[in-house]
Amino acid sequence: MSAPRWDLILVGGGLANGLIAWRLRQQQPGLCVLLLESDAEPGGNHTWSFHQRDLLPGQHRWIAPLVAHRWAGYDVRFPALNRTLAGEYISVTSERFASVLSQALGDSLWSGTRVASLTPETVTLEDGQTLNAAAVIDGRGYRPSPHLITGCQAFLGQQWSLSQPHGLTRPILMDATVDQSAGYRFVYTLPLSDRQLLIEDTHYIDRATLDVDLARQQIRQYADRHGWLLDRLEREEQGNLPIALSGDARAFWRAQAGQPGSGLRVGLFHATTGYSLPQAVALADLIAAAPDLNAAALFRLIQDYALAQWRHQRFFRLLNRMLFLAGPPQGRWQVMQRFYQLNHGLIARFYAGQLTLQDRVRILAGKPPVPVGEALRAALKFSPRLRAFHDE
Ligand SMILES: Cc1cc2nc3c(=O)[nH]c(=O)nc-3n(C[C@H](O)[C@H](O)[C@H](O)COP(=O)(O)OP(=O)(O)OC[C@H]3O[C@@H](n4cnc5c(N)ncnc54)[C@H](O)[C@@H]3O)c2cc1C
Repeated sequence: MSAPRWDLILVGGGLANGLIAWRLRQQQPGLCVLLLESDAEPGGNHTWSFHQRDLLPGQHRWIAPLVAHRWAGYDVRFPALNRTLAGEYISVTSERFASVLSQALGDSLWSGTRVASLTPETVTLEDGQTLNAAAVIDGRGYRPSPHLITGCQAFLGQQWSLSQPHGLTRPILMDATVDQSAGYRFVYTLPLSDRQLLIEDTHYIDRATLDVDLARQQIRQYADRHGWLLDRLEREEQGNLPIALSGDARAFWRAQAGQPGSGLRVGLFHATTGYSLPQAVALADLIAAAPDLNAAALFRLIQDYALAQWRHQRFFRLLNRMLFLAGPPQGRWQVMQRFYQLNHGLIARFYAGQLTLQDRVRILAGKPPVPVGEALRAALKFSPRLRAFHDE
């Protein structure tokens, strides 16, 4: 058999694979890497945000060219809590991502190329052409697995230009002073410029059943309530992000059958927020520093990283079960209101997935609005697909 033409083929030019391709271009420019994306541009249609604490200083440096917006702090609003939290909040836009990546990768990016099937060392395109590589990474986005039980964070976001300045200087990450009758719901607002807002209507629900027309209506009502004069709809984005409740990570990885993967495809997301940017950045660093990028070595590297992340996030899955499964849906906002009353350092460590033992005790201490025992019983009830409940 002839030698593979590429050292690495990345299937899916989304967040995770795009970052891997870009980081490899910086750290190992001699490698022959190919990024395949079915859409006309890499990066889809998103605004990816994260907190300053989510990344290490070195990671902030290399990701800086992708950053389109930064704010010095953010607000949260609940029926009995209005709080401003310090700490930078940062957004990467798909537009910036596509432009930086296309420029850096040149001919190594094939957009408008749909992959029909893949193996750890081959890719078959929809036109029947087969490509060979020393390794192939599958980064085609989330795919449900029988080994992972999830809830859903469903949202619709609209980016509007306004006919007058809105006066907002910081993002409102959670405004839960809105109707709560169908589960935990909040509105998320980013002031992109003085006359531009991204407003997202977000629901934590059991299944992805967001009523898009209702969400559009609710965004309009929310803007009216704040006196924001919506003028022109610039873009719309929609998400159904998985929220991890429990699962069997070893079985999940056995089912991957040696296929290296990245991003949501292999469960690399924050269990409670569904956000994946920090883990995608960390994985890109890990791969770019790896001495050996053959398929077997890459699979082991990614699997070990993902299993460590899974163990690390066990407590977040417990919290999710409390949020999703215990107590009446219309009372779930109380869990979040109580959480946002805790100290700022703890909240930052929560988003970064770096809670200490003390933080965990603090979150569960006192009289939580949803009892832990009930949450655990609810988790048992929710696991008919697993023979016996376990979260390993
Ligand atoms: C609207 C929205 C907003 C989000 N906001 C945030 C946020 O603020 N912060 C955060 O951290 N996370 C956010 N997330 C969650 C998560 O980080 C993103 O979903 C992220 O894009 C996942 O990265 P990924 O690389 O796994 O998948 P994706 O970025 O979805 O990439 C998958 C890529 O594979 C391509 N593809 C699929 N099939 C094929 C095929 N057969 N052949 C070729 N290409 C294919 C797709 O076109 C896509 O470009 C958001 C998600 C959504 C949907």
